[in-house]
Amino acid sequence: MKLPIYLDHHATTPVDPRVLEAMIPYFTQSFGNAASRQHVFGWEAEAAVDAARASLAQALGASEKEIVFTSGATESDNLAILGVARLYREKGDHVVTAATEHRAVLDCCRALESEGFRVTFLAPRKTGEVAPEQVREALTDRTILVSLMLANNEIGTIQRLSAIGEVCRERGVLFHTDAVQGFGKIPFDVESSRVDLASITAHKIYGPKGVGALYVRARNPRVRLAPVLHGGGHEGGRRSGTLNVPGIVGFARAAEIALAEMPEESARLRALRERLNDGITGRVEGTSLNGPPLPRLADGGALAPGEEERRLPGNLNVSFAGVDGEALLASLKDVAVSSGSACTSASLEPSHVLAAIGVPAPLAFASLRFGLGRWTTAEEIDFAVATTAQAVARLRENSPLAHTRSR
Ligand code: PLP
Repeated sequence: MKLPIYLDHHATTPVDPRVLEAMIPYFTQSFGNAASRQHVFGWEAEAAVDAARASLAQALGASEKEIVFTSGATESDNLAILGVARLYREKGDHVVTAATEHRAVLDCCRALESEGFRVTFLAPRKTGEVAPEQVREALTDRTILVSLMLANNEIGTIQRLSAIGEVCRERGVLFHTDAVQGFGKIPFDVESSRVDLASITAHKIYGPKGVGALYVRARNPRVRLAPVLHGGGHEGGRRSGTLNVPGIVGFARAAEIALAEMPEESARLRALRERLNDGITGRVEGTSLNGPPLPRLADGGALAPGEEERRLPGNLNVSFAGVDGEALLASLKDVAVSSGSACTSASLEPSHVLAAIGVPAPLAFASLRFGLGRWTTAEEIDFAVATTAQAVARLRENSPLAHTRSR
């Protein structure tokens, strides 16, 4: 086993060697600009982009013209939210989202507020789920867009999008999802989930950083966008800028692999996640699970009959009462995980996601997010359990907060 161990796959993932191999020719040999129409260098690059676009469209259940390549999901979220709001402004000025969304969505909504839009930030249940009725109640005749993520990056909650999409469709409101954490990990397609826009990014699925896409529905309804980046009119005028050809090729290859391996990989990750959770709860007192319950498993990590996948298979988020998460992180030198606090320029704040699902600040500060991935092994999980248990015990011994520990 090689140290340190990487258990932060929600933050990013290593590039799969199969993805890298597909990308390499597009750096040095077929390096053309996909917009160069006059020579073979450009044609080759364009052909590679076309093939990748077709492959990603198929992965989403979409058509090629509905895919807009971007620099990542932050840009996709910006294009979806700002692009729709600004274009449909005549129709309405109200947007609905949830308090547990990624900053890329929340900060776009804040930007819209400063442009005079009204935004409703729904409070999800303790599991992180938003009920379709909550969305229905929030809609007004001025609502133009609802944005809710497919899966949460901190607590792994999988949102049942189709019922919410149905509500939006009935009311003629566009529906965007930040599908970054779910795409390639759980079944997802734009038809059954009834979304009109979906943001995805390559680096969460073992592809390269700095490349993403936005799905934009072309029919029933045809969604239009005000561009955010202006320039050469690439991507049908929706996103100007020279395409990242190697990145796009790698993105498509990464999605192909993720989709092909999803059933076995999900089962493997669920079993490892259960091992991690059992190990931690068996060895450490005073832990609490943040987010949806873990499913009961059948052999080999398959879901037991009647169980639903309510949480990303590789996600675990646990609070350790009476322990400071930052101190815990600092003492976990050989295990890369993240804690439930966010450093802003001025202060350390509890995660906005944990706060929104009602986790008290001391427990949010005392939380760790584990993100298991493609090369995580049982040996690594056992090491993480032992190291975490030791670190928690040591910190509690030394902590003036030790008396606040509770089961
Ligand atoms: N949305 C979610 C849910 C994420 O987890 C991330 C990654 O941190 C992003 C958006 C931003 O993606 P990108 O790093 O591609 O800009």
